[in-house]
Amino acid sequence: MVRPINSIEENLASVRCRMMRVLGSPEQEGKHNHTVQLVAVSKTVGADQIWEAYRCGQRHFGESRVQEWLAKKDQLPADCRWHFIGRLQTNKVRYLDESIVLIHSLDRVALLEALNAEGKRRNHIWQTLIQVNIAEDAAKAGFAPQDLPLFLEKAAKCPFVALRGLMTIGRINASPEAACETFSALRRLRDSLRTSGSVNTEKFTELSMGMSGDIEPALAEGATLVRVGSDIFGRRP
Ligand SMILES: *Cc1c(COP(=O)(O)O)cnc(C)c1O
Repeated sequence: MVRPINSIEENLASVRCRMMRVLGSPEQEGKHNHTVQLVAVSKTVGADQIWEAYRCGQRHFGESRVQEWLAKKDQLPADCRWHFIGRLQTNKVRYLDESIVLIHSLDRVALLEALNAEGKRRNHIWQTLIQVNIAEDAAKAGFAPQDLPLFLEKAAKCPFVALRGLMTIGRINASPEAACETFSALRRLRDSLRTSGSVNTEKFTELSMGMSGDIEPALAEGATLVRVGSDIFGRRP
């Protein structure tokens, strides 16, 4: 018998349950006293399916292509909170708007400068995470940790870009131990930047790490945002 594909409602419940198993329920006093945001990654997913997740209470959604997001967002309620998680071309920055609550993929100086210029033009401060290639995966975007000091000097001159923390993509099919190592390294990097004085300590708190295959190690290492696509919406084409 072919197993039926679970509904988005069931998938969301199961992801929230997995998160709870690591974090403890909100009533429990645990070592995880920060809140964790589940970002449902809706890239390639149609507006009707996003609606289904919305009806289950999901509000935070992640998109990775500006054109695709523009085509969908007007079909969805205005209180959807959009996260941009993919490589962002500088010439697409002007299409973003205030419904983008967080850009997870600030991965190069040219993008920093484009965001700052557009923010200045419309007097809007973008909330961003620095994407770090912590696993030093040649296939991935993001800064090498040693390139961050120079980047932070430049970011200090960009008042329309607020740095809120770090984001990384773990290696696919990494062992649980290797995944923990990657995520722990990102947390330690955030903490060392906070104590170095090169970022705004109060604001630089977020860690976006963990996807369908590795939310458990990411949460155990202190993720504040997890980005889950296929375990909610099913496998992408
Ligand atoms: C696609 C994507 C995700 C979601 O991946 P899944 O494995 O489907 O959960 C998360 N983060 C980024 C940056 C992505 O591009």
